[in-house]
Amino acid sequence: MDWEEFRRWSEKAANWGADYRASLRDRPVRAQTSPGEIAAHIADSPPEFGESMEDIFKDFEDILVPGMTHWQHPRFFAYFPANAAPVSVVAEYLVSAIAAQCMLWQTSPSATELETKVVDWLRRALGLPDGFTGVIQDSASTATLAAVLVMREKALDWQGNGKGLTANRTVRIYSTDQVHTSIDRAIWISGIGADNLVRIPSSGPNSAMDPRALAAAIVQDRAEGQLPAGVIACVGGTSIGACDDIAAVVEVAHAHGLYVHVDAAWAGSAMICPEFRTLWQGVEQADSIVFNPHKWLGAQFDCSVQFIRDPESLVRTLAIHPEFLRTHGHDGITNYSEWSVPLGRRFRALKLWFLLRYHGLDGLRAMIRNHVAWSRTLAERLAAEPDFEIVTEPFLSLFSFDHKAPDGVDQESHTQRLVAAINNDGRIYLTQTRVGGRLVIRFQAGQFETTAEDIDVAFAAIVEIARSLPST
Ligand code: PLP
Repeated sequence: MDWEEFRRWSEKAANWGADYRASLRDRPVRAQTSPGEIAAHIADSPPEFGESMEDIFKDFEDILVPGMTHWQHPRFFAYFPANAAPVSVVAEYLVSAIAAQCMLWQTSPSATELETKVVDWLRRALGLPDGFTGVIQDSASTATLAAVLVMREKALDWQGNGKGLTANRTVRIYSTDQVHTSIDRAIWISGIGADNLVRIPSSGPNSAMDPRALAAAIVQDRAEGQLPAGVIACVGGTSIGACDDIAAVVEVAHAHGLYVHVDAAWAGSAMICPEFRTLWQGVEQADSIVFNPHKWLGAQFDCSVQFIRDPESLVRTLAIHPEFLRTHGHDGITNYSEWSVPLGRRFRALKLWFLLRYHGLDGLRAMIRNHVAWSRTLAERLAAEPDFEIVTEPFLSLFSFDHKAPDGVDQESHTQRLVAAINNDGRIYLTQTRVGGRLVIRFQAGQFETTAEDIDVAFAAIVEIARSLPST
């Protein structure tokens, strides 16, 4: 591709992107295709000879776009948002064009130095004390893995990487059953093993970890010769927004010398609004915190920020220094690849810089406050409708609800069919979860372009489809 062709197709892609985003309200939110339908249109073998960009682009539009679920759709109320604010997309065009590997300071000083700055901007934005430094990881899963590896290495007196786990006492990590599955994976990958992720009971409206049960579990494990290493607390769990009492958890954990990692992957963005910070009171005492600007804040995926109080422990756990990665002649530089599991790194700070400068904290706060307010209003409106029940009250902008099955119809299958019918309808997209074993419907408002009218559409769609759902 020569540079004139590159320019032409880049312009075409940017124009396509603008048209696509502007047309989202007219599209069904979730892909309306069946499994295998898209693959059936794709050649089994790679082309032997190059094809024209016209043909490739046409197939992209005709074959692939219909099979996309539109995460940037203003009526995307499923999972958690994965917002890509238009300004962050523009930054990503530039990152793609430059395509630098930003693993070391010298492989792109701007990427490293901007990362240090914007992560500190976010620290200030979230109201965290200046004792925290941070790093941009690709995902919360990786940040949690990094934190678990630090817990393991600290507990094993830095012998785990060298000697493995079999030579040592059994490492134990504590959390409730409300944490995201990325915690389970981190426990598997770190070699600690799922049996050593101790589930502490949770209770109350926030399904918060019982700090006394935590203390008792640590004491008992020690008495049995095991090695308590760390606690993973959550603020805004994925299912229903469970929220641990961070101050209480940290107090117990630190009294026993344990490392505390806080997963606020989704809810962390809300902490740019001072009024929500009581939800994670005590977080300033945590050792590690992860939040995903690629969820609610608007920085295009991937962009997960991990704040740490002691970066030395992280670097001691993860850094490795072959000669080919050394930077000679520069003392005091930061090589962020030493702070993360992958070596290669994208220039992720740029989209944060564009996002924060374009919208300002004030603009982003307004978005988040709207989502929280609209979600509460929707929960109130549904609660006032006959046969609707709010199962878990809104935590920030997330709540769960159910609709009573007609007499003689199994409740679980009714709920399941209602979710499917709503998503097949296409006006909105939402998902289900389980609360105490019961299947319920989950709603979160968080998409960057959502308006109050979109919430009205959600209300109308939910009520209308629930009322007209056939009984089998
Ligand atoms: N933690 C929580 C609370 C989440 O909700 C999610 C994803 O939804 C994750 C962690 C994993 O995030 P990531 O996809 O960045 O690994």
